[in-house]
Amino acid sequence: MDFCSIASGSSGNCIFVGTDHTGVLIDAGISGKKVVAGLQSIDRRPEEIDAIFITHEHSDHIRGLGVLARKYGIPVYSTAGTRRAMLGQKTLGKVDESLFFELKADERFCIRDLCVEPFRVSHDAAEPVAYRFFQGDKSVAVATDLGYYDEYIVDHLKDLDAVLVESNHDTHMLQVGAYPYYLKQRILGKRGHLSNEHAGQLLGEILNDKIKAVMLGHLSRENNYEALAMATVCAEITMGENPFKAEDFQIQIAGREEPSPLIAI
Ligand SMILES: [Zn+2]
Ligand SMILES: [Zn+2]
Repeated sequence: MDFCSIASGSSGNCIFVGTDHTGVLIDAGISGKKVVAGLQSIDRRPEEIDAIFITHEHSDHIRGLGVLARKYGIPVYSTAGTRRAMLGQKTLGKVDESLFFELKADERFCIRDLCVEPFRVSHDAAEPVAYRFFQGDKSVAVATDLGYYDEYIVDHLKDLDAVLVESNHDTHMLQVGAYPYYLKQRILGKRGHLSNEHAGQLLGEILNDKIKAVMLGHLSRENNYEALAMATVCAEITMGENPFKAEDFQIQIAGREEPSPLIAI
């Protein structure tokens, strides 16, 4: 199974997961052109994409969706709540509604040799989910846009071979930063985003001996920077009550604009 972050951050999100026979995207929050260029960088073409899985309707997750769905006729999958919220938005432009299919959290769905299981996350959107993919005994997950994590989330992120976890903000930078009060409260709240500390603590609970790649994603442009996210997450892993040290793992930042290398697991 292959895994690549094409773009990740509050400015736009798009992740590729594929096998030799199947290719899918998680979110399409950057322009159609950038998605195509990102796919090109890993030797894939948009015509080979079998589905786009949408986590939720915020524009940083669907900005390029209308163009991609229209131009390539790619089926779009999401929860019923997200589907409704997306189709009610101008961002999408004119799309063929019959390309939009519904999924349910905790119900597995397969396209050829690639299976996906959506799971609920707490975020200020209609019916947001994160996704975990399976092929044979391998699995990868993408978990961004979550205000907090609990046992349910941890359970869905156990025994992974690769993961992209949100490391959105440094709590202190956010608190003293320029954002208006209501926005700070929104981001810090239970339906907001995961801080660097919480990302590190979550990783402390889900890391395992076979995990091959750990990516930190959805970094805030205003309230975080890469070195700080990395240092905080690594400190949390190493100090936490788990048998691991951060240096036991390949941890990398999923770039805002640049696609990551293709990770084969
Ligand atoms: Zn969001
Ligand atoms: Zn987002």
